[in-house]
Amino acid sequence: MKLSQKNHLKKQLENQLQETERFLETDQEIESTELTDFDRNHPADMATDYTTQIREMAIEDFREEEIEEIKAALQAIEDGTYGRCQVCGTEIPYERLEALPTALTCIDHADEEIV
Ligand SMILES: [Zn+2]
Repeated sequence: MKLSQKNHLKKQLENQLQETERFLETDQEIESTELTDFDRNHPADMATDYTTQIREMAIEDFREEEIEEIKAALQAIEDGTYGRCQVCGTEIPYERLEALPTALTCIDHADEEIV
Protein backbone atom coordinates (compact mmCIF):
# COMPACT_ATOMS: atom_id res chain seq x y z
CA MET A 1 0.00 0.00 0.00
CA LYS A 2 1.25 3.48 -0.83
CA LEU A 3 1.78 5.94 1.97
CA SER A 4 -0.76 8.31 0.39
CA GLN A 5 -3.35 5.51 0.37
CA LYS A 6 -2.64 4.70 3.99
CA ASN A 7 -2.96 8.36 4.96
CA HIS A 8 -6.23 8.59 3.07
CA LEU A 9 -7.66 5.60 4.94
CA LYS A 10 -6.35 6.92 8.25
CA LYS A 11 -8.14 10.22 7.66
CA GLN A 12 -11.30 8.31 6.78
CA LEU A 13 -11.07 6.26 9.97
CA GLU A 14 -10.51 9.37 12.07
CA ASN A 15 -13.54 11.05 10.53
CA GLN A 16 -15.62 7.94 11.04
CA LEU A 17 -14.54 7.77 14.68
CA GLN A 18 -15.49 11.40 15.27
CA GLU A 19 -18.85 10.98 13.60
CA THR A 20 -19.69 7.80 15.46
CA GLU A 21 -18.74 9.32 18.79
CA ARG A 22 -20.85 12.37 18.03
CA PHE A 23 -23.80 10.14 17.12
CA LEU A 24 -23.47 8.34 20.43
CA GLU A 25 -23.49 11.59 22.37
CA THR A 26 -26.49 12.94 20.47
CA ASP A 27 -28.33 9.68 20.97
CA GLN A 28 -27.89 9.86 24.70
CA GLU A 29 -29.16 13.42 24.82
CA ILE A 30 -32.26 12.56 22.79
CA GLU A 31 -32.89 9.51 24.92
CA SER A 32 -32.98 11.39 28.22
CA THR A 33 -35.21 14.09 26.73
CA GLU A 34 -37.63 11.47 25.46
CA LEU A 35 -37.74 9.73 28.80
CA THR A 36 -38.63 12.95 30.61
CA ASP A 37 -41.37 13.64 28.08
CA PHE A 38 -42.64 10.14 28.41
CA ASP A 39 -42.99 10.36 32.17
CA ARG A 40 -45.05 13.50 31.95
CA ASN A 41 -47.14 13.07 28.83
CA HIS A 42 -47.45 9.51 27.57
CA PRO A 43 -48.13 7.05 30.37
CA ALA A 44 -50.19 4.88 27.97
CA ASP A 45 -47.38 4.47 25.45
CA MET A 46 -45.20 2.44 27.70
CA ALA A 47 -44.95 -0.70 25.55
CA THR A 48 -44.06 1.24 22.40
CA ASP A 49 -41.59 3.35 24.24
CA TYR A 50 -39.95 0.34 25.77
CA THR A 51 -39.46 -1.24 22.33
CA THR A 52 -37.98 1.99 21.02
CA GLN A 53 -35.63 2.07 23.95
CA ILE A 54 -34.45 -1.48 23.36
CA ARG A 55 -33.85 -0.69 19.71
CA GLU A 56 -31.90 2.43 20.60
CA MET A 57 -29.79 0.46 23.02
CA ALA A 58 -29.02 -2.06 20.28
CA ILE A 59 -27.97 0.73 17.95
CA GLU A 60 -25.79 2.12 20.69
CA ASP A 61 -24.14 -1.26 21.22
CA PHE A 62 -23.52 -1.48 17.52
CA ARG A 63 -21.92 1.96 17.50
CA GLU A 64 -19.73 1.19 20.46
CA GLU A 65 -18.59 -1.91 18.60
CA GLU A 66 -17.91 0.22 15.57
CA ILE A 67 -15.79 2.58 17.66
CA GLU A 68 -13.77 -0.38 18.92
CA GLU A 69 -13.20 -1.53 15.34
CA ILE A 70 -12.12 1.90 14.19
CA LYS A 71 -9.73 2.23 17.13
CA ALA A 72 -8.28 -1.20 16.38
CA ALA A 73 -7.72 -0.20 12.76
CA LEU A 74 -6.06 3.08 13.80
CA GLN A 75 -3.89 1.12 16.22
CA ALA A 76 -2.91 -1.24 13.39
CA ILE A 77 -1.84 1.78 11.34
CA GLU A 78 0.30 2.94 14.28
CA ASP A 79 1.79 -0.54 14.62
CA GLY A 80 2.43 -0.82 10.89
CA THR A 81 0.33 -3.99 10.63
CA TYR A 82 -2.53 -2.26 8.80
CA GLY A 83 -3.31 -3.53 5.31
CA ARG A 84 -2.38 -7.13 6.10
CA CYS A 85 -4.76 -9.85 7.17
CA GLN A 86 -4.26 -10.44 10.88
CA VAL A 87 -5.05 -14.12 10.41
CA CYS A 88 -2.97 -15.18 7.39
CA GLY A 89 -0.78 -12.12 6.70
CA THR A 90 -1.97 -11.67 3.12
CA GLU A 91 -2.04 -8.13 1.86
CA ILE A 92 -5.62 -6.83 1.87
CA PRO A 93 -6.62 -5.31 -1.49
CA TYR A 94 -6.86 -1.53 -1.33
CA GLU A 95 -10.36 -1.69 -2.84
CA ARG A 96 -11.52 -3.70 0.17
CA LEU A 97 -9.96 -1.24 2.61
CA GLU A 98 -11.44 1.70 0.78
CA ALA A 99 -14.90 0.14 1.06
CA LEU A 100 -14.30 -0.99 4.63
CA PRO A 101 -11.43 0.90 6.27
CA THR A 102 -11.87 -1.05 9.50
CA ALA A 103 -11.09 -4.36 7.79
CA LEU A 104 -8.23 -6.12 9.52
CA THR A 105 -8.53 -9.35 7.57
CA CYS A 106 -8.71 -10.51 3.97
CA ILE A 107 -12.12 -11.52 2.63
CA ASP A 108 -11.40 -15.20 3.35
CA HIS A 109 -10.98 -14.42 7.04
CA ALA A 110 -13.64 -11.71 7.32
CA ASP A 111 -15.61 -13.81 9.77
CA GLU A 112 -12.78 -14.33 12.24
CA GLU A 113 -13.11 -12.42 15.50
CA ILE A 114 -10.16 -10.08 15.74
CA VAL A 115 -11.37 -7.33 18.03
ZN1 LIG B 1 -6.57 -13.96 5.69
